[in-house]
Amino acid sequence: MSNHIRIIVRTKRQTTGPLTVAAYMRQCLTNPDGGYYINRDPLGQAGDFITSPEISQMFGELIGIWIFSQWYSVLGQPKKCRFVELGPGRGTLMADILRALQSLPLLKTLISDLYLVEASPTLSKSQLKTLCGPNAVMTDSVDGVKSSTTVYGYPIHWVQDLKQVPDEESISPFIVAHEFFDALPIHQFEHTKDGWRELFVDYSVPKSAISLPGQTTISGTASQTSGGETFHLTIPAVETVSARVVPKSSPRYNKLPVLSRIEVSPESLDYAKEIGKRVSQRHGTALIIDYGPADTVPVDTLRGIQKHHTVSPFDSPGEADLSADVDFTALKLVAEEQAGVAVHGPVEQGDWLHTMGIGARATMLHNAQTTDEGRKRVEQAYNRLTEKSGGAMGKVYKFMSFQPAHTSVPVGFGGSAFGDEK
Ligand code: SAH
Repeated sequence: MSNHIRIIVRTKRQTTGPLTVAAYMRQCLTNPDGGYYINRDPLGQAGDFITSPEISQMFGELIGIWIFSQWYSVLGQPKKCRFVELGPGRGTLMADILRALQSLPLLKTLISDLYLVEASPTLSKSQLKTLCGPNAVMTDSVDGVKSSTTVYGYPIHWVQDLKQVPDEESISPFIVAHEFFDALPIHQFEHTKDGWRELFVDYSVPKSAISLPGQTTISGTASQTSGGETFHLTIPAVETVSARVVPKSSPRYNKLPVLSRIEVSPESLDYAKEIGKRVSQRHGTALIIDYGPADTVPVDTLRGIQKHHTVSPFDSPGEADLSADVDFTALKLVAEEQAGVAVHGPVEQGDWLHTMGIGARATMLHNAQTTDEGRKRVEQAYNRLTEKSGGAMGKVYKFMSFQPAHTSVPVGFGGSAFGDEK
């Protein structure tokens, strides 16, 4: 399969010239003909990476409680709610959210339906099993939307883009995105002495290959194939239209010194705008969880992830996950300016989970275990999710919420669970 994406990328290069980093990422990750996410389940110990919801049920349960608190105190108990998840993986997070809500009165009977935004047919099947039961089936509708019913009786639908999720005045959306934005394509620009230049992905010219700081040098032998080519980044001598426009689109980029590289994800900004618009117009809320700097522009963070290690993003196109840090400030600015929403955070995962009561939940789970092994598992999961030293998850991952302007500060972001702060 790897060769297949290689051939697609090589052919595109031959026909239309070097690819933008975003075009390269899109081919590698979601090309329907063998992109990384399309035919595999990359999660778990045997896969390429492990995510917080897969580490412990506590993660999703606390998000379920946060959703309840948003519904109850921030949004004033809207009568019809639609749950939307972007990039739901195996469906574990949504399953834990829904289970947590079953034990709380009121909201669970007001969920009109669920929408999962998912590019991968393989992971959609996994989500079907997790949320609807092992024997559940998906039905196709004319407009390409697939549907089923969850074990709790909620109608559930699969789409490939948030814009396909119906936007009805009477339904409040509750949107969750965990490790979704880091998979969206980015463009890279470098501030050269001659001005900004967009970086492109090229192949087979080892001498002009440039290195990715913090990663392996992309040189002559780095990713050779039977075709002999090596994929690498290259800087065009001339200024392209994108290089003239994008770095000037925000004052945040202007200040950066020569040799700085920035990453910009227009697709992420479109999502943030759309989420913001729906949250403000339809009186809903969103929780975005991902990794990235809280207040600076991501610089040179594109990486490949394979078998739990960071690898060059150019070594095995279509076979390694590709990801880039999320620019939380960019998402926040676009949502606040263009959609009129209140954005809270980002706050570090460890802090958010502690405020939401992970300590008490871990103690309860720990006490409910009947074996030493079980107790150890709970302890390890608690530490892994909350630990803040070094590059641990509790520090690297951040939580950010969107909600209508002029609403109270949400719990987990400085507010109280009963919304008595404005
Ligand atoms: N949220 C899950 C999975 C994270 S992996 C968890 O935390 O465990 C990224 C998820 O986003 C996968 O489900 C992947 O198939 C999906 N995805 C990646 N790019 C996408 C895109 N452009 N459109 C829709 N889904 C995408």
